[in-house]
Amino acid sequence: MTYTEFLRQFPDSDACLDYLKEKFYADGTACPNADCKSNNNGASGTKFHRINGRSAYSCQHCGHHVYPTAGTIFHKSTTSLQLWFWAIYLISSSKCGISAKQLEREIGVTYKTAWRMMKQIRTLLGEDEPLEGDVEVDETFIGGKPRAADSRKFAQAKYPRQAASNWVRDNKTIVFAAVEKGGRVRATVVPDRTKPTLQGKIREFVLPSSMIFTDDFKLYVGIGREYKGHRRVNHSQKIYVTADGATTNTIEGFFAQFKNSVRGAHHNISAKYLPHYLNEYAFRYNHRKDSDPMFWTILDRAQKDRLAAA
Ligand SMILES: [Zn+2]
Repeated sequence: MTYTEFLRQFPDSDACLDYLKEKFYADGTACPNADCKSNNNGASGTKFHRINGRSAYSCQHCGHHVYPTAGTIFHKSTTSLQLWFWAIYLISSSKCGISAKQLEREIGVTYKTAWRMMKQIRTLLGEDEPLEGDVEVDETFIGGKPRAADSRKFAQAKYPRQAASNWVRDNKTIVFAAVEKGGRVRATVVPDRTKPTLQGKIREFVLPSSMIFTDDFKLYVGIGREYKGHRRVNHSQKIYVTADGATTNTIEGFFAQFKNSVRGAHHNISAKYLPHYLNEYAFRYNHRKDSDPMFWTILDRAQKDRLAAA
């Protein structure tokens, strides 16, 4: 979707409100007023007409008012609806995301407003569909540094990754992710690197009919009993592909790209906002091959209660 196409469809806030009205209260839908006679019309329902000067429409039978922004992130915002739609357009059309600073410049709002808009829009990007098929699972540290004494031990350890699991990193954030080979990802920040946490996330993110692929980290042992199977790639012996072709290349690629993105010049992400950024990143990854522009996918999710209801 080009910017010209965006402007043609949404030339002003009224056009944006009309879009939401069509989405939630299209002609023929039932009137929310239980006493409205139109509800006895069966399939024909009612029509809603715009009330001049207000962000509301009224039922042509009973005059009941409906507010298309109710229950959305746009409701009662002092920022115009068109600026909201524009922000969603910019976020969805940028390849790797934009910062609040960029949004401030592009749409001409204060930094504080841009920051709040980003935060609200990111709440729409959470993914909740379970994964299936061949699913690679792994966890990684983002940010922080090993303590000095530990890093010496890291270097000396025969199997650095195994050894690292027993040591604490300062200011670390642990990110867990599961990714279908060639498909979708689910990723989240986890509080610790323990068996109940990691295996619990696998159960939450991946359907039991799936084949699980991990490295040889000991905390994943046993998960295969609840799945179609579990194949381990023996990283500590520096083997990255087994004789029968099992790898965890997809998840490693995902983490590598994510870390690059976090380090990128315009992303200065504190541990506190990492979960939101991770959500956005996973959303982009999952929708990278969609035929519909991401703009519509995000707009479709504009109801505030979407995640609460899921
Ligand atoms: Zn009515």
